Amino acid sequence: MTNTPIRIGVLTSGGDAPGMNAAVRAVVRTGISHGCEVYAIYEGYKGLIQGGTLIRRMDWSSVGGIIQRGGTIIGTARSAEFRTREGRRQAAANLVTLGIDRLVIIGGDGSLTGADLFRREWPELLAELVAAGTISEAQAAAHPHLRIAGIVGSIDNDFCGTDMTIGADTALHRITEAIDAISSTAASHQRTFVIEVMGRNCGYLALMGAIAGGADWAFIPEMPPQMDDWEQHMCDVLRIGREHGRRDSIVVVAEGACDRHGKPITAHYVKKVLEERLGEDTRVTILGHVQRGGAPSAFDRWMSSLLGATAVEELLNADADAEPKLIGLRENRVVRLPLMTCVSDTRQVAEAIAQHDYERAIAMRGNSFVEAYRTLGTLIQSQPSPPDRLRRGHRFAVMHSGGPAPGMNTAVRAAVRIGIDRGHTMLGVRNGFQGLIDGDIFEMDWMSVSGWATMGGAELGTNRKIPQGSELYQIARNIERFGIDGILMIGGWAGYQAAYKLYSERHIFPAFNIPIICLPATIDNNLPGSELSLGADTALNSIVHAVDRIKQSAVASRRCFIVEVMGRDCGYLALMSGLATGAERVYLPEEGINLRTLQSDLDEMMEWFRRGKRLSLIIRNEKANPIYTTSFICSLFEEEGGKLFEVRQAILGHLQQGGDPSPFDRIQATRLAVRCIEFLIEHADRQEPVGAFIGYRGGKVQVHPIEDMPRLMDPVHARPREQWWLALRQMTRLLTTPPVFHQVE
Ligand code: ATP
Repeated sequence: MTNTPIRIGVLTSGGDAPGMNAAVRAVVRTGISHGCEVYAIYEGYKGLIQGGTLIRRMDWSSVGGIIQRGGTIIGTARSAEFRTREGRRQAAANLVTLGIDRLVIIGGDGSLTGADLFRREWPELLAELVAAGTISEAQAAAHPHLRIAGIVGSIDNDFCGTDMTIGADTALHRITEAIDAISSTAASHQRTFVIEVMGRNCGYLALMGAIAGGADWAFIPEMPPQMDDWEQHMCDVLRIGREHGRRDSIVVVAEGACDRHGKPITAHYVKKVLEERLGEDTRVTILGHVQRGGAPSAFDRWMSSLLGATAVEELLNADADAEPKLIGLRENRVVRLPLMTCVSDTRQVAEAIAQHDYERAIAMRGNSFVEAYRTLGTLIQSQPSPPDRLRRGHRFAVMHSGGPAPGMNTAVRAAVRIGIDRGHTMLGVRNGFQGLIDGDIFEMDWMSVSGWATMGGAELGTNRKIPQGSELYQIARNIERFGIDGILMIGGWAGYQAAYKLYSERHIFPAFNIPIICLPATIDNNLPGSELSLGADTALNSIVHAVDRIKQSAVASRRCFIVEVMGRDCGYLALMSGLATGAERVYLPEEGINLRTLQSDLDEMMEWFRRGKRLSLIIRNEKANPIYTTSFICSLFEEEGGKLFEVRQAILGHLQQGGDPSPFDRIQATRLAVRCIEFLIEHADRQEPVGAFIGYRGGKVQVHPIEDMPRLMDPVHARPREQWWLALRQMTRLLTTPPVFHQVE
């Protein structure tokens, strides 16, 4: 028996998608860490057939510095030849000759179908190659099976089985940036814009882009307009919006949008309709390939890294004849799913649309997609439905508390509009609980939140005030004075504590016997009952963007950067930004820092620089340790590093709390706010004085009774007792520390 290492190939195929590089990097480094040899197959299946220099062995550093780059550095192509048996036979010959019998394929449904066919044919292809004398019997015998693992790279998010595909989040970033930019010019000239986005069979980008961009109308392939004269309905709604004071109209059209009879609804047709029926100055913008390009978002970097690493684990652990797996993300966790079932389900959606069977198409997209479509339908109305006369309209207060978090305004907009739409009065409380104490409360109407979907900051104002003593009495009086029937608190740790305080003082203040619900909004992501709070994704993207720039500033020198990020006692931002930027070390408050860690990290870093490394990155959470501060670590490393490397610190500060919310934060804000208002209505109707906090857990929205708050919170460290992302700690080290260093310590 020889000790031939396991050889793994990785290729990207079909359309490129931002995040593919992070997946390739993870495949290469995870493979090397497990003692495998990893080969990159350049130009997709074309390279597999051509072989030669298009199949190259990768080492640790060949995937260095690529995580932040858009597209795919190993190239992608479409190959007609791979669709032929001759082409696949040649591809098999190239792989067997190099001893590669495991492949990670990153591509769309076509690429994954091709890979599965190749896998099934493999034994026959090898037999044919032996018969033709191209390979020896021994070579064929050494590689009886081809193992494959698939990862979906597609900006459309059009794949069944996985909640997100590589590139979709980044594409949404590009779309919302474009809609934001277009909206400002549209509003200046009181214009209407029709924006076409990608998505032939999948309306994900159009639907989520419209929600995130605060658009006024959207067309998607799975949900054609209900009525035949949809043109008039759209024009009526847009006209009323203008009459109510909106200065622009934005219509988003998916490239595959059709009416109920399958007739395409194109951006140019919509423009014609709007010009003819409304006489509006209407422009068309087709976003095109801009959506595919640019640096990947933080999510696409860390998710793709996890998928790539898991694909290698799958190839190393699965039985040779096991059904091949798709590595995907479901309910915020990496999952392994039967590859061909997912491909077949995906194709069925396209078939259903082609057959105008929209019920089936939408059913296959799942509940949250349908829910998002309905929410958009409500938010874009420019005149609320008349209130239900049989029911007394309630008066609900919306407020913030805690630090500012991008997405707060988006949530208020959705809450106010949904509340009004259902026939209730919506009150805004300025300045957090201080406003509730002072009676700084006012009625909000439909247009008062116009434009808030995309705005960073917190228009209502926020602070960390937790009411005490006689202030509670003043709050009780104001609740009675303003006739408040329920409170939605959108905020962070202080807000949760304040809401709990009101709830637990109900026996003293009967006015507090109203439903109260907390919606998690803080960049720190330190709240119970929610895996992700509003603002955390935006902050993560701000950090990643800043670190990209910091890294670029150091191309010519041997330099170690120590970047300090926010998060208070929660290391979420530090760890996830570490994963997304390729930081070698991450210091978390959950783990702390001690002298031994610093010593061994320093030794390792010196060894890296001795071996020619030019740049090293450490991310430190602001409260990782009170003594070993960022400046302390800088001074220590600077002193010990001597002439070997320089050290620079960057404390990112408040830029992390600012900025317009990311698409994910806007979508979550809308989704959670809608559910909160439904909660308040339901319990106010039944006169149930319940308290609750809502959150996004396991990919679903969940509502927790407020009584659970103390059980789920760690009051000493102001963070939840359970933090899902801590399981990803090993990954940062695995992907940044070559195996040779595993013995250094
Ligand atoms: P995208 O979603 O971006 O279009 P995709 O992977 O679906 O990505 P395709 O053009 O369908 O893109 O497929 C990419 C390549 O995969 C094709 O050029 C071809 O080489 C191979 N391929 C696709 N379908 C098959 C098939 N049925 N049999 C063999 N190879 C295939």
